[in-house]
Amino acid sequence: MEQKILEMLPGRLLPWYRENKRDLPWRVDREPYHVWLSEIMLQQTRVEAVRGYYTRFLQALPTVEDLAACGGDRLRKLWEGLGYYNRVNNMKKAAQVIVQHYGGRFPQTYDQILALPGVGVYTAGAICSICFGQPTPAVDGNVLRVVSRLLNDATPIDHPAQRRRVQELLAACYPVEAGDFTQALMELGATVCGPNRQPACQDCPCRDLCLGYQKGTAASLPVKSPKKAKRLEHRTVFILRCGERYALTRRPETGLLAGLWQLPDVEGCLTAEQALSYLEKLGVRMKQIIRTGTKTHIFTHIKWEMHGIWLEASQQSDAFCWMTEQEVESQAVLPTAYRQFWVERNM
Ligand code: SF4
Repeated sequence: MEQKILEMLPGRLLPWYRENKRDLPWRVDREPYHVWLSEIMLQQTRVEAVRGYYTRFLQALPTVEDLAACGGDRLRKLWEGLGYYNRVNNMKKAAQVIVQHYGGRFPQTYDQILALPGVGVYTAGAICSICFGQPTPAVDGNVLRVVSRLLNDATPIDHPAQRRRVQELLAACYPVEAGDFTQALMELGATVCGPNRQPACQDCPCRDLCLGYQKGTAASLPVKSPKKAKRLEHRTVFILRCGERYALTRRPETGLLAGLWQLPDVEGCLTAEQALSYLEKLGVRMKQIIRTGTKTHIFTHIKWEMHGIWLEASQQSDAFCWMTEQEVESQAVLPTAYRQFWVERNM
């Protein structure tokens, strides 16, 4: 039954996709570097937000060789605002592998592509099907949602075994037009059968096949396992100004927000007195505390409760790097967690 439904899917989806697909910059060609970049950028980010980033990135780094040779700070600046900087760091590593091992030509087999740093089964499936016409499904949250509804399947989609099962079911029904089919599934999941709302079944080309529609369960699918609570961490952040310059530090090259700049901070929630004493121990001569304020930032597994203290110093110390506003904006990548304090620096 399941396989029969999926076998009829290409016949419904392909004509619909050709008629209805959105005009997106990464659909202009099937160049693997372009498809790869768009797929990495689209993970966790909306299509509309990605458009500008995608175009700017390719203007700055038009080839894999350019990406492989790009300096870390410039690369992170091109990615600033998208978050998940390890993705672009891995893209650079993968580009270096492509240059060194494949002479700059993108590898074409699934296993070679999957072996590149930062490339998982979803991205490898997308590149191989869209660029090289191979029957390799790209199963992300959108596709899992569509298949759950089509098959009226209440298995939690975050179970790795379910992802593998959907991958195998889809691989068995891939048509010759593999690239269009991959994109048609993504398109249906991003638009008509979208997340966080009632599916628009009246506009769906698969309505006559869809068990979720027929049984009235579509809106309650897919099922997800209950989320684990995030670990809560408190941090005290210093928005520390001395004359026209602000104190910044560089994060370690590994771990959370690796290699990015940040406003100085310390674990825990310091009182004003503790903060002044902490900074004076680092050699900063303090003038005054201007104000305080709290903000939150949520990562995949951690929640930061951030206690900001805006301060003015009368003398800098070597413990920090002191930058003007212009230097911060043009050279330093400040992750969103810290930028939310930075944007209020003059308030
Ligand atoms: Fe999704 Fe409705 Fe189409 Fe089924 S009929 S795939 S639930 S939009």
